[in-house]
Amino acid sequence: MGGSFKIGRFSGIDVKVHWTFFLLLAFFAFIGYQSSGSLAGALTPTAVIVALFICVVLHEFGHSLVAQRLGIEIHSITLLPIGGVSNLESLPEKPSDEVKITLAGPLVNVVLAPIFFGVGLLLGAEPRMPSDLFTGIGSVGQFFFYLGYLNVVLALFNLIPAFPLDGGRVLRGLLATRLGALRATEIASRVGQLFAAAFFLIGLLGGNFLLALIAVFIFFGANGEAQMVRQRELTRGLIVSDVMGSKPRTETVTPYHTFGQVLDSVIHGYQEDFPVLDESGNLVGMITREEIMTAAHSPERYYSVRELMKTDVPTIPPQADLFEDALPILQQSGLRALPVTENGELVGMLTIEDVGQASLLGPLPRKTEATAMTVEKG
Ligand SMILES: [Zn+2]
Repeated sequence: MGGSFKIGRFSGIDVKVHWTFFLLLAFFAFIGYQSSGSLAGALTPTAVIVALFICVVLHEFGHSLVAQRLGIEIHSITLLPIGGVSNLESLPEKPSDEVKITLAGPLVNVVLAPIFFGVGLLLGAEPRMPSDLFTGIGSVGQFFFYLGYLNVVLALFNLIPAFPLDGGRVLRGLLATRLGALRATEIASRVGQLFAAAFFLIGLLGGNFLLALIAVFIFFGANGEAQMVRQRELTRGLIVSDVMGSKPRTETVTPYHTFGQVLDSVIHGYQEDFPVLDESGNLVGMITREEIMTAAHSPERYYSVRELMKTDVPTIPPQADLFEDALPILQQSGLRALPVTENGELVGMLTIEDVGQASLLGPLPRKTEATAMTVEKG
């Protein structure tokens, strides 16, 4: 997510904070200072928010570590003013996996809550909520007791079946075992949007701007993920040879083609990347628009493709699953096109455009696991 920066890394997962999170801290510090007139009054709500966000990070790690165990790669966890988001490489295919990943998050808060309650009581807290967060909590014990309470709220709020919140994911997972992923997601996202509308109204009327913001997030999140699943189901089972440019439609060059010849092909043809084949038809590399254009603007004189081509280019088998296998190879290569080979022989070329057309120009499958948090304003 743009505007986020890394604050740490654990188990191969980057933890990032979005800059707007600091706006939230500043806002709470300001309100705290205004209502108490003291530095302590400004620091208390700030400390509560920071502690709460540590709990949100732990909640996200609950999801992420279980997802990792189930073989799903996690890119990062990002903290936003409305909660945390884990970026998962893919959606879990099995509904039961999704339910496991989802429940692990709130479970973290269910474990944390009694620990904080216990620490609070040991430190002499009275079992009550602070009357007003912004005029002080009273004591360190009371602070911990309040954190325990916030963890209960975190677990309960996220278990509301407002897809894509955790509760909504559990609902989707349970529905999916009977109705299939597509139908289950459609129902869950409709339910999620109803909740979003209700949260938005309650937030607006009650002056809880965070809840209204969460509602907007839920509304678009539900819609976006329903679209993603629809697309995944539509494109399920597509293999590379279904969409690639076959060999007769792919222009190739030899290492001995002159630079001028290739430049001419780029300018007058529709192709920008060319597999390079030697005289016996073996694939020896690729020459891409990038090399051709760099060479065209370079003062050095290049004479042949051999001097310019990339030689260690990954290849893709024609039977590879388009989205599961081929697309990651293409993305990792950083190239816009890769040769498709079978038994070492070129059979075609797969381009980013081929994949884009196959996916109906929609976003690529990626899932975010979100945790919303709310703070009541005393
Ligand atoms: Zn969660």
